Amino acid sequence: MAHQWRGIITEYRERLPFGPEVSPVTLLEGGTPLVPAPAIGAKIGAEVWVKVEGANPTGSFKDRGMTSAITQVAQTDTKIVACASTGNTSASAAAYAVAAGLECAVVLPAGKIAAGKLAQAIVHNAKLVAVDGNFDDCLRIVRELTESHPVALVNSVNPYRLQGQKTAAFEIVDALGDAPDIHVLPVGNAGNITAYWMGYCEYAGKTTSASMEDSAARLEPKASKVPQMWGVQAWGAAPLVVGHPVSDPETVATAIRIGNPASWQYAEEARDNSGGWIDRVTDEQILAAQALLAAEVGVFVEPASAASVAGLLQAGAAGKVPAGAKIVCTVTGNGLKDTATALGERELDFTPIAPTVAAAVEVLGL
Ligand SMILES: *Cc1c(COP(=O)(O)O)cnc(C)c1O
Repeated sequence: MAHQWRGIITEYRERLPFGPEVSPVTLLEGGTPLVPAPAIGAKIGAEVWVKVEGANPTGSFKDRGMTSAITQVAQTDTKIVACASTGNTSASAAAYAVAAGLECAVVLPAGKIAAGKLAQAIVHNAKLVAVDGNFDDCLRIVRELTESHPVALVNSVNPYRLQGQKTAAFEIVDALGDAPDIHVLPVGNAGNITAYWMGYCEYAGKTTSASMEDSAARLEPKASKVPQMWGVQAWGAAPLVVGHPVSDPETVATAIRIGNPASWQYAEEARDNSGGWIDRVTDEQILAAQALLAAEVGVFVEPASAASVAGLLQAGAAGKVPAGAKIVCTVTGNGLKDTATALGERELDFTPIAPTVAAAVEVLGL
């Protein structure tokens, strides 16, 4: 095995808060594909790539933050980690807890978790608590719980999560040779937009208020510029767009069904200091972008992930995309986690045919 990606801590340790003595708790996350998406680029007159974070070990970008958060917990005496989750954080926390030999408790909004994500938490033996409430209620509960009990919080309010997640920006710059002009991503609890902005800034020799240490001052810059950060929320869960918390967030994109983002200020900093914006798209636009990514790019993503592409297409239609711009969209999670939503209202006819070639040829219209 001459070459295998070694996971984000080993690949980027000099820019992470882990000394050489720390052995990572890793499932070899990161190193995900940056896939050209000419079918999207052609629609808006730009050069577009999608960063396919569904290719991580548990199928979402959460693994980047989880290797970092759980590696830190593994340095301590704490034996239990806990998180609130719309699904992917719990899937990732449960898997990395297994790798670390820790217990994992997850607090979930009842009935609002995609089946695949719930299955992941179950097979990795997490302890599940379903709450009659939304994600924001779950986060409030685990925050209080972890303050009063010997349990480590691994939501993105844990700064180690963002440290891991910033490596996606490093990978993009490493792949393209410099930062893109624009980076577009879905925004829920707003940890990821914070982390990407931190990653792009640190690679360009700058720090942000979310930065933990001054690697930018120690190391040579790897990028000559930073991108504009474009954030996309779902219409019914768009607190950063409407400017106040939303008490009953609603969207088909359950991973961004969040009414009071924990990293609110950091997200505004990323938006304002990059000259970008945060906008919202409808569920219809999200599902259309999901279908487009599947049928014209070849990448199957979950609904929340498609919000980035939906927001980019909306900006293109409004004339807000500079001609020929280099644009990266993060597609945050794997479509296989939520096949029910993807298939939705489609009419599927699986009436069996006679076991003959002739019958197959007839059905296929050949
Ligand atoms: C967690 C998640 C998001 C939202 O990221 P935030 O950091 O909460 O803004 C978007 N898409 C998917 C698939 C996720 O799992």
